[in-house]
Amino acid sequence: MENHISTIIVVGGGTMGNGIAHVFAQYGFSVCLNDIKQEFIDRALKIINGNLDRQIKKGTLTEEQKQATLSNIRTTCSLEDAAKNADIIIEAATEDRTIKKEIFRSLDSFAPAHAILASNTSSISITELGAVTKRPQQVIGMHFMNPVPVMKLVEVIRSLATSQETYDSVKTLSEKLEKIPVEVNDYPGFVSNRVLLPMLNEAMYCVMEGVATPESIDTVMKLGMNHPMGPLTLADFIGLDVCLSIMNVLYEGLGDSKYRPCPLLKKMVAAGHLGRKTGQGFYKY
Ligand code: NAD
Repeated sequence: MENHISTIIVVGGGTMGNGIAHVFAQYGFSVCLNDIKQEFIDRALKIINGNLDRQIKKGTLTEEQKQATLSNIRTTCSLEDAAKNADIIIEAATEDRTIKKEIFRSLDSFAPAHAILASNTSSISITELGAVTKRPQQVIGMHFMNPVPVMKLVEVIRSLATSQETYDSVKTLSEKLEKIPVEVNDYPGFVSNRVLLPMLNEAMYCVMEGVATPESIDTVMKLGMNHPMGPLTLADFIGLDVCLSIMNVLYEGLGDSKYRPCPLLKKMVAAGHLGRKTGQGFYKY
């Protein structure tokens, strides 16, 4: 089946969607990028263009390769138009259960019968998304990391219904992008966020309890554990609202008090201190 995958549809052209479209197009796939408004598509294309220029400056891409990459990307605001020729659709829309379920329902009716429906969700159950379609065996998680052109990992998430054939296709496809796929089962937070977020949350407890300053905590983890970035710098980068919503998914989904979100995190989100994107989080930007 994997040999037939040549046309990729990316739904949502935000931070992740534009990176996913960029990488597939760079590796020679025919990509269709979909978003709800032309201005969002224009913004995505502008970012892809800028990121390709950065690759040229670094000497990892030529001008001809940039042009070839851009010529592999078509765009549309119509999901129906996007989906009709798809071999695989990668949904990277806003992290909202209602929006994603609606997209999966529509994709199921618009996409060819053989098409795989994948989601880049960080925290929503793949089994739940599969259950709104008539092809749950062809629904899978394809969780890329930010920034997509740089990060090697793809967490490939199997729902309770995902078939071996679908998993094998997505694994092979990830390898064609020179990414490293890792097989994970569908449980709250998968592996990446199940392990990462409680660590960030614990660093926030250390700030709240006055164990140390954010700078000191980050220094301990960078110099002591060889982490490239301290946990509080990383939380600010991810967005504190996103951190809180993932902690809530773990807390509610696993029903264990060890996942309770740090009260300081809740307070900062309530105050609108969301990290880098608002200029204020554990640090000022
Ligand atoms: P984003 O807010 O930057 O982009 C979301 C895009 O989806 C927007 O352009 C929006 O207009 C579009 N969109 C919303 N509804 C749509 C619809 N019905 N049809 C088509 N497009 C629609 O979000 P993001 O950070 O790119 O995250 C996208 C997904 O990737 C989420 O599920 C998120 O959990 C996941 N994710 C994010 C990161 C990250 O670091 N940002 C990392 C891994 C996974």
